[in-house]
Amino acid sequence: MKDRLNQIIQTKYKKDLHDCSNEEIYNSLLCLTKETARDKPAITGEKKLYYISAEFLIGKLLSNNMINLGIYEDIDKILKEAGKSLTEIEDAEPEPSLGNGGLGRLAACFLDSIATLGLSGDGIGLNYHYGLFKQIFKEHKQYEEKNPWITDQSWLTNTNIAFDVKFKNFTLRSKLYDIDIPGYGSGINKLHLFDIETVNEAIVNEGIAFDKENIKENLTLFLYPDDSDRAGHLLRIYQQYFMVSNAAQYILKEMDDKGYSLDDLDKHVVIQINDTHPSMVIPELIRLLQMRGMSFDQAAGVVSKTCAYTNHTILAEALEKWPVEYLEEVVPDLLPIIYELDRRIKEKYSDEKVDIIDKQKRVHMAHMDIHYGFSVNGVAALHTDILKTSELKPFYDLYPEKFNNKTNGITFRRWLMHCNPKLSSYISSLIGEAWKQDAEKLEMLMQYVDDSEVIQKLLQIRSENKKELKQFLINTQGIEIDEESIYDIQIKRLHEYKRQQMNVLYVIYKYKQIKAGNIPKRPITVIFGAKAAPAYVLAKDIIHLILCLQELINSDPSVSKHLKVVMIENYNVTKAAKLIPACDISEQISLASKEASGTGNMKFMLNGAVTLGTLDGANVEIRDLVGEENICIFGKSSEEVISLYEEQTYDPGKLYQEDALIQELVDFIIDKQLIKIGDPENLCRLYKDLISKDWFMALLDLKDYIAAKETALAQYEDREAWGKMMLVNTAKAGFFSSDRTIKQYNQDVWKLNQ
Ligand SMILES: *Cc1c(COP(=O)(O)O)cnc(C)c1O
Repeated sequence: MKDRLNQIIQTKYKKDLHDCSNEEIYNSLLCLTKETARDKPAITGEKKLYYISAEFLIGKLLSNNMINLGIYEDIDKILKEAGKSLTEIEDAEPEPSLGNGGLGRLAACFLDSIATLGLSGDGIGLNYHYGLFKQIFKEHKQYEEKNPWITDQSWLTNTNIAFDVKFKNFTLRSKLYDIDIPGYGSGINKLHLFDIETVNEAIVNEGIAFDKENIKENLTLFLYPDDSDRAGHLLRIYQQYFMVSNAAQYILKEMDDKGYSLDDLDKHVVIQINDTHPSMVIPELIRLLQMRGMSFDQAAGVVSKTCAYTNHTILAEALEKWPVEYLEEVVPDLLPIIYELDRRIKEKYSDEKVDIIDKQKRVHMAHMDIHYGFSVNGVAALHTDILKTSELKPFYDLYPEKFNNKTNGITFRRWLMHCNPKLSSYISSLIGEAWKQDAEKLEMLMQYVDDSEVIQKLLQIRSENKKELKQFLINTQGIEIDEESIYDIQIKRLHEYKRQQMNVLYVIYKYKQIKAGNIPKRPITVIFGAKAAPAYVLAKDIIHLILCLQELINSDPSVSKHLKVVMIENYNVTKAAKLIPACDISEQISLASKEASGTGNMKFMLNGAVTLGTLDGANVEIRDLVGEENICIFGKSSEEVISLYEEQTYDPGKLYQEDALIQELVDFIIDKQLIKIGDPENLCRLYKDLISKDWFMALLDLKDYIAAKETALAQYEDREAWGKMMLVNTAKAGFFSSDRTIKQYNQDVWKLNQ
């Protein structure tokens, strides 16, 4: 390994390792890792999975690829000997910004597990040059900038594979780039990222503004471009069709290359449709098969046996419905097929709720997936239940056999072995290495639950991780936190249903308590990290409030000794990996029934944080695993919340009027101290929304939340008992390995022969 690395460095830079800059070492390791991957076998099989997704939030790849290829420890040692630090070298790697949040990160964890299990399965998506925006804070507000990540030397390999994709007014030629996906101790799969030859980075102006109508130059610039107007909507359809047409052509090309008959498509191919963005792959495949001479009936039949759909949300606004007129404008060739698919459904079923095209001439993408796919899955037990009994009930009544649950998971290679090396090697010293292949073996840690030496060591590792995070925050944001304080962390996309605003109201509560002389036993550090969608006004108002509070509290020495607020700028996978191993309290406080699963909750649990959460998404399963005494649960149940929506009886104004504490906390949003720091327009808008609408019911659970958090903070003082909770959380986290999730997908849905 050492010789090979030196050889690469000599050829590239004509110097020795210890004379190289971190960037030069990074580029050399990139080269070495790609070479090592090239020498591993491609994973093959009679049947192959194609996981189509608008997002793959893969994070930096160097360390994870080295771990999976089995060269990490060697390289780490070689670098240490030369006085170099791998952590610093990693700083030279740009983080690919090909995803938005949980859904994209899930796709990345899945690719890792699929390869690790030796299953033949590739990802297919788009090669966004600027990906999701980069978040900048200025004057206590979020601004968006482009996020370039493609450099001269990168993980992308140009393939020479290209297809024509025909739109109404023009045809675009694609260009395929591949990224190798090495499994842990196995072979290689691929992530296929389609691009266009004519993309033009120079058309981006200030921030992330660009000409939305210039499709030939803008198609693969951004993930989720602003769709608040017609041009933006059309651009999203251009992107989606471009993605699935390339995917379909690629899949048929591989069928041809392997000499399989298209009649047997479902025997050699399974397509997982990750949320509704790739749904047009269904009509597109039917169209292509018809062009190859298949009848409509036969094409629709075989495609239906090939496609499976994953539902990620019950938020109505997130289930895509495209006006027929928009599709007409972009992809007229698909419409006759969609009309026919819809006609057949209307002929068979009289219930309008299951129509593909509704009365307002909108195409319901999820409905098409459910009718013309063979599997529909939710992503946590509670979520799947809600799909069956309420959200998708009319469909469940038609096709009970299609519905199944696949509780999400995370790859332990990234979210424990890589991000928390101290805990990882301590675990191995206690129970051996077998947990790395079989995550359920973490349960062997339970034998140490009463071993105070082990508990002390766990607390010590946490404390070291907290010191590292403290240093990281000094370096990156110039904020100094107290390493002895309790680290309370909420990091996830900003959305009202995730209720960062409720956490903010707790911060206000604590601030007022301290001002009134009620000093907490131990200081508290409340950390947020979240990007808001650029057009999501209230989400941006919440960020504004957090940043104003950060300023107010941190610059008031009488308070900041006891309470600090940190808003992480540009939260991403790299930052998640620094924050999670240092966390004491994991905030998972979504309004019950609204968070489909969450995967952040699993990452924290695995690293021994204690969850403070509602009975929502996979929190329910976390509670079942660790037991009530090792998690802090509060808030109204999903049933109660669902009936509040049904009966339309939730009244935040009443809660505000009738409860002095709620009133005091909400009023502080427009207190003159905050108005002085911030923008009255943003603060007033948020204030008014909370007392008149509060669609995601932050005020409903506020008092219960405050009480639960106070209890958790008090529990923290019994260090031994807290250490035990940490151990139980890690020990019981094995179920949330994405290896388990993928085994279940394979057993129940994909049926790939290994
Ligand atoms: C895991 C992860 C998410 C998902 O977090 P949730 O708390 O499940 O919403 C989002 N962004 C990043 C960068 C992640 O690593």
